[in-house]
Amino acid sequence: PLNMHGGEIKFENVTFGYHPDRPILRNCSFTIPAGQKVAIVGPSGSGKSTILRLVFRFYDVSEGRILIDGQDIRDVDLESLRKHVGVVPQDTPLFNDTILENLRYGNLNASDEEVMSVIEKVKLDKLVTDLPDGVETIVGERGMMISGGEKQRLAIGRLLLKDSPITFFDEATSALDTHTEQALLKTIRSVFRESNKTNVSIAHRLRTIADSDKIIVLRNGEVLEEGTHYGL
Ligand code: ATP
Ligand code: MG
Repeated sequence: PLNMHGGEIKFENVTFGYHPDRPILRNCSFTIPAGQKVAIVGPSGSGKSTILRLVFRFYDVSEGRILIDGQDIRDVDLESLRKHVGVVPQDTPLFNDTILENLRYGNLNASDEEVMSVIEKVKLDKLVTDLPDGVETIVGERGMMISGGEKQRLAIGRLLLKDSPITFFDEATSALDTHTEQALLKTIRSVFRESNKTNVSIAHRLRTIADSDKIIVLRNGEVLEEGTHYGL
C-alpha cells in the first residue's frame, strides 16, 4: 500500500507517449511539494491532462519514475494509490443514476448529512430544490439532463466527499458561468487552503494561477519553467 506522509509528487525524467513513436512528455522533471497548491499551465495538447492520467496510473511511463512521498507509484497497489488521489477530470464521467448516488461515488460511506453539506458547498442546492425529485433525480446517460457547469459541480462535490490527501483539478475552460465560478472557486480555495492537502490545478484561468504556491509551465512535452507567480 501507499505510505503517505505529506503527499509530495515527483516526476523524474519522465518520458511517455500513447504511441511509442510519438512521445507526449519528454524527459520531464518537476516536484509538487507536499501540501502545496500547484498550477500546471501550457498550450492545448502540451500534455497537462496526460500528467494526471500518469499519476492515476491509467498509463505507465515509458522512461523515468513518478514518486509519491518517495515511493515509485508502480510499486504501490492500484487501489491504495487511487484511494489517495482524487481527480476532477475535464469531462466528468457521470452515471445514469441519481444526483445522490453520483455524489456518493466519491465515498460510498458518506452519510446523507455529509452529502447534503457538500451539495451546499458546490452550490447545487438551488438545482436540487427546484427539481421535483430533488437529490433522487436521475441525471441521464452521461449526465445529459444537467448542464456542463452542474456536471462539473457534481464532480467537485464527489472530490470533496472523497477527501483524499492529493487532489487534481483539471479545470474545464468554459463549463461554468462567471458568477457561479467565482463562488465555487472561493469555496474550493477555502476548503483546500485550510487543509494540508496537495492540490494540483491544471489551469486555464489567471485567477487559479495567481493563487498558486507554484506554477509549472509545459511546452511541447517539456517543462519550460517552474516557479512562483512572481518569479516567472
Ligand atoms: P488541453 O489543454 O486541450 O486539455 P492537454 O495539455 O491536457 O490539452 P493532453 O490531453 O495531455 O493535452 O494531450 C496531449 C497530447 O496527447 C495531445 O496531442 C493529444 O492528442 C494526445 N492524446 C491524448 N490522449 C490520447 C490518447 N488516449 N491516445 C492517443 N493520443 C492521445
Ligand atoms: Mg487537458
